Amino acid sequence: MITLENYREIVGDTVISEIYKKARRLYGKHVVHINSTYAGGGVAEMLDSLVPLMNDVGLEVGWRILHGNPDFFITTKKFHNALQGEDINFTEMKQHVYTKANEDFSVFTHIDHDCVIIHDPQPLSLIKYYKKRQPWVWRCHVDLSNPNQEVWNYLKNFILRYDLVIVSNKKYTKDDLPVEQKIVHPTIDPLSSKNKELDDETIEKYITKFDIPTDKPLITQVSRFDKWKNPEGAIDVLRRVWDKIDCRLVLCGSMAADDPEGYQIYENVKQKAEDLVENRDVILITSENNILVNALQRRSDVVLQTSIKEGFGLSVTEALWKETPVVASNVGGIPLQVIDGETGFLVDPHDTGSFAEKVIRLLQEPDLAEKMGKKGKEHIRRNFLITRLLSDYLSVLNDIIH
Ligand code: UDP
Repeated sequence: MITLENYREIVGDTVISEIYKKARRLYGKHVVHINSTYAGGGVAEMLDSLVPLMNDVGLEVGWRILHGNPDFFITTKKFHNALQGEDINFTEMKQHVYTKANEDFSVFTHIDHDCVIIHDPQPLSLIKYYKKRQPWVWRCHVDLSNPNQEVWNYLKNFILRYDLVIVSNKKYTKDDLPVEQKIVHPTIDPLSSKNKELDDETIEKYITKFDIPTDKPLITQVSRFDKWKNPEGAIDVLRRVWDKIDCRLVLCGSMAADDPEGYQIYENVKQKAEDLVENRDVILITSENNILVNALQRRSDVVLQTSIKEGFGLSVTEALWKETPVVASNVGGIPLQVIDGETGFLVDPHDTGSFAEKVIRLLQEPDLAEKMGKKGKEHIRRNFLITRLLSDYLSVLNDIIH
């Protein structure tokens, strides 16, 4: 089991000592995180590392998953999209499907913790079905800058009951919400199988196992098959890069259990790139495999992120940590990570030409790619590693648990 001391070499003694200090007043405190999937997407990824570390420093921290049926996940995905600004046919039936799964779960999930941390909209309404005896925190990982007002107004029925709301970006704080709001930027775990160092032999083994030819430069995008991630945009970029350089594109997108739209988007991408998929100029991967993601992010010459919207973009963080140059959309949390011209290139998500131009530049100028990669890694080391997230959560709990 990885413990906090394993991070000393990466983040230094001061960071570790500060964390132990912040944990002191919280020894034995019983905290529960609740979200709606164990795997797939950034939230599960973070909890996977955060929960053991919170236990390691002396708290008693659990992690529970809201059980939902397919109807529930279809509905909450629509809510998710609406929170990111999309239209929705907002019926009473949807509200019923949403609250029923939360109410049912509350019947068999007993909560007597010192603090409850709810992640994202799926389990948000749980709060209504408990007698509140402790602080509840809503940790929202979604871009709330321009939500559909009807859905936002409905969800506020639940949000107003919370003691604290945490969002991922200053841009997502809400003026019309009289609940205390904090900003916590997400992080990655440098010791997880997805991010730990890999030797060349292991990298080649995984690249070969997944039948990825390495005769041409490799461009990769690691993202769920989701319209906001815009995998089709990555194919347009590839076609433009070909004007100057022959290369291959890997789209690696596992299907998250709480994301029912994934299969449809995957099919759209496959159709759009039919001929390219056949001759393996575009390689579509749907397996959930952390070491493969790690190997791909290390082996690729450029990592792309063509998202139209992005809560934070952990895939970008992961690539920067591996010193792989990144060309990414100037949206959501990406500009916090990619400092244009320093740690990577930022591009308007609709500007395929600029995307291609930056990719070509990085492929043609290996010195520039290397320099950006190194700066990218240092930027992540200082700001976006799991020890910082742990420290932020301890600060929140120190403030909120009396
Ligand atoms: N991911 C993965 N396999 C895939 C696609 C994505 O493991 O095929 C991971 C990715 O490495 C990252 C997370 O899912 O850790 C995605 O987080 P991000 O913040 O980029 O997007 P989200 O899916 O949370 O919107």
